[in-house]
Formats: sequence, C-alpha cells, structure tokens
Amino acid sequence: MTERISELARKLKRIVGDTHVLEATDLTLSYATDWTGRFRGHTPIVVRPADTSELAQVVTLTGEAELKIVPQGGNTGLVGGGVPLNGEVVLSTTRLDQCEPVDQLAQQVTLGAGVTLARAQAHVAPSDLDIGVDLAARDSCTIGGMIATNAGGINVLRYGAMRDQLLGLEAVLADGSIISHLEGLEKDNTGYHFPSLFAGSEGTLGIITKARLRLHPHMAERCTAMLAFSTVDDAVAATSALRRSVPSLHAVEVVFRAAMHLVSEHIDSSIPVGPKSDAWLIVEAAASSDPTEELASAIDKLGTLVTDVGVALDGQHRNNLWQYREKVTEAISVKGTPHKLDVTLGASKLAEFVHQVPSVVSEQDEDASVYMFGHLGDGNVHVNVLGKDGSEPSELVDEAVLEYVAKLGGSISAEHGVGSAKRDLLHLNRSHTEISAFRLIKHALDPHRVLNPHVLLPKEDS
Ligand SMILES: Cc1cc2nc3c(=O)[nH]c(=O)nc-3n(C[C@H](O)[C@H](O)[C@H](O)COP(=O)(O)OP(=O)(O)OC[C@H]3O[C@@H](n4cnc5c(N)ncnc54)[C@H](O)[C@@H]3O)c2cc1C
Repeated sequence: MTERISELARKLKRIVGDTHVLEATDLTLSYATDWTGRFRGHTPIVVRPADTSELAQVVTLTGEAELKIVPQGGNTGLVGGGVPLNGEVVLSTTRLDQCEPVDQLAQQVTLGAGVTLARAQAHVAPSDLDIGVDLAARDSCTIGGMIATNAGGINVLRYGAMRDQLLGLEAVLADGSIISHLEGLEKDNTGYHFPSLFAGSEGTLGIITKARLRLHPHMAERCTAMLAFSTVDDAVAATSALRRSVPSLHAVEVVFRAAMHLVSEHIDSSIPVGPKSDAWLIVEAAASSDPTEELASAIDKLGTLVTDVGVALDGQHRNNLWQYREKVTEAISVKGTPHKLDVTLGASKLAEFVHQVPSVVSEQDEDASVYMFGHLGDGNVHVNVLGKDGSEPSELVDEAVLEYVAKLGGSISAEHGVGSAKRDLLHLNRSHTEISAFRLIKHALDPHRVLNPHVLLPKEDS
C-alpha cells in the first residue's frame, strides 16, 4: 500500500506540480478536519489540480491505484462529507478559481468550482447582479461545494436553493471522462438534466469543475427589521403573513431564545428588542426602490403578534441586526463541539417541534444543551446540541431528534446534506425503493466506488 501511494504521489506531481501534492501530516491536517472539529480523518495525499484537464488525470490515476477520492472545496460542510474519514485521497478544487466574464445580456456567469461565494458575489456586483444563494460561510465555501450540497442559505424564499441557480455544468466522472454542457440555454430539453442530478450529490457521482449560474438583478434598496415574539407560534404565524403581504421579502431568519442569549453574550451586545422573548425574526425586504413603507405596513398589520420591533435603515444598523443571526454558529463553536441537526418542518408542525426538541434531547442526554435558529421562511431549523461542558452530546440525541422530525413529516436534512453524519438515517425519509434507485445511479456513474464512497448512501452499501 505504501509503495502504491508513493508511486501515485510521484505521478500526481508530474501532472499538478510538486507544490500541489501534499503528503506531510502537518500540511494535510487542515484538509482532514471539518469546520466544526467533530469530523477528523487522515489522508495520505492532498492533491490540488489547476484545471479540468489536470483534475481528470488525477481522478484516472487515483482510480487506477485503487484508492478512493474525497472531493473538497472550502471545507465548510457540516455533515462530515468533505473530509477523508477512511484514509481517502483529498482532491481540493480551490485552484479551479477562474471567473469568466459576466454575460450581461443573458444575466449569467460561468465560474470555476473552486471560486468562493464571496468572490463570485464581488465578480458579478459591477454588473448590478447578484448570485441567488447567500450564506454566512461565503468567504470560504465554493461554488462546487455549494452545488454538491445543494446549499440553501438566507434567500431561498426568493430565489430558491443552489439547484435553482444552475443552467449548466462541467464535471469529471469517476473514470476521468468529462461531461460539459455550459451553453446556459433557459430552455433545453435534450435529455437527462445533469445539473439537477449533481446538485445534492455530495461528490458521489462526479467532481464538478465549472458551473453556469443564473444571476438576479441587484436589489440596492433594503430595509431590515428585528421582530420579537412571546411565543414560537406567533413567530410562525407572522412569517406566513409576511410571505403573503411583502412582495419584496428577501429573508426571514429566526433565532430562538437560548441561541439569542448565547450570541448576545458572544458579541458582547445586548439583545436589541424584547430581551425576554421566546423568538426573534430578522426580516429583510429588498427592491429597486425603497421597500421600507411596504415592510413597515406589513409589520403594522401583524398587530399584537409582535411584542417589539427594531428597524435598520442604513448599512451599519443592518449589519448590527444581522450579526445576531450570522454569528450564532460561531458562538456555539466557541462553546464546544456541537452536533448540528439541520431539519425542515411543515409550517403547521414547526412550533410543536421547537417546543418538544429540548425534552427529546434531554431524554437521551440530560446534560445536553440545545440552541436553535434557522431560516424560518423555509421551515428550516438548525438544532445545535452541545454535551456537558461543551463536549459532544450522546450519539443517541441525533437519532432521537431526527426520528422525531420524520414522525412529524419533516426532512432530516434541509440544506446541509446527508454526508457521513446522517447516511444511516436516510431510511427515515427515503423508501427502500428510492435508496435502491440511488444505488443504481451511483453504480452506473461510479462502478468502482472511487468518489466519496462513504457518504450519502447507507453503510450496508459499502
Ligand atoms: C458559518 C457557516 C454557515 C453556514 N450556513 C449555511 C447556510 O446558511 N446554508 C447552507 O446550505 N449551508 C450552510 N453552511 C454549510 C456549508 O457552508 C455549505 O454546505 C457549503 O455549500 C459547503 O461548501 P464547501 O465548498 O465548503 O464544500 P465542502 O465542505 O468542501 O464539501 C461539501 C460536500 O461537497 C463535496 N464537494 C465539494 N466540492 C465539490 C466539487 N467540486 N464537486 C463535487 N463534490 C464536491 C464534498 O465532497 C462534500 O461532500 C454553513 C457553514 C458554516 C461554517
């Protein structure tokens, strides 16, 4: 095995250059540990190809050496899908960072898979256009990783998830062959739609190298408000009313009590409105002309549902309100290593779920603490569970919470994917027949299981 690895490293260096094949543990360590610190693996080689042709050769050679590959972008994934938990070779896409000129006529752009979201946003901004998906990991997460996880984020209620932005894709398949369809035609019914298949495939079907994205007109005028609610039910009812009455609605984010108190302590700033509330919404309206009147009138109509409101009209105050949502993840990570359970519930089940989860958790681990927040406009709640003194909680917690989600008809993965964390619980949402069909697709595109063989599909498939 060692000889096979050394031989592969020698061949890879000839393709990508010596400096882009990393073997020493101190150099590979950060590629083998995930953002949360929960998932730690090891790898014999990290390889960083510069373009599609190099990447295809890397895949071919690694397959010939009978080694497995974990594709990795920004390594901000939260389900243990992008780290080598079983000694795989890590194929980092960060050097595939070319941004092609914006097609202003079509309002589209083609980007390399390793371009970070923040860079993509900056690239299209001078054309007064925006990328449809936005999320707090924007400085590190990559376009390829976002497609592979079908990332959601804060604007799904307006523009949809990553899958909805995709007009074309280039990818390297497990045998090193390349599929490319980047014309960006809005109508193109010429057979199976690879972008749809690859969105959410978590690196199991091919390695995305380029994507053609639909862009959206930049909404320069914004109004952001923080709304306080004495009950979770009121926050859910208000979200529904706002979705109906504010055409320029851009985001409806939620922070529940424990998470709000934690983030306020973390950023050393008091809770701006209704400090004794159970839930807070951060609501943003965005349009080409000032949406303040529209949002203010809709909030007014919520009447006694809302107990307190704070409105931000300029950039500085907007950022101030947003940090109570965007810094929650960081605040939790500072406290310890959480189990992150990212779920969606139907609107009618959301309040019941939020009320019951702390008891569901404490039945499995009485020392655990629960912090909840999320994208309420999409019914998406992030349940973060810390064990005693910031340690990991019992594994039983994950199963109990996700079983409860499934019982309420929700999804055990809203936007983070399945990864290695939830693969054995996939049956909670997907039938035996569906999982068998998934396996047939995987087998057709990757018969030797070279690409990310330990994620998404349940273990018995190994
Ligand atoms: C602070 C913070 C906030 C976040 N907020 C959100 C949020 O609001 N919404 C949301 O959806 N997610 C969120 N995430 C999760 C994460 O940012 C997303 O899952 C993101 O899409 C991962 O991108 P990445 O480039 O870091 O991928 P990685 O973590 O590197 O990889 C993720 C998965 O994609 C695969 N992959 C990566 N690149 C490729 C490729 N080119 N081809 C094929 N497979 C590939 C990997 O093998 C792995 O399975 C957040 C994470 C953090 C740390």
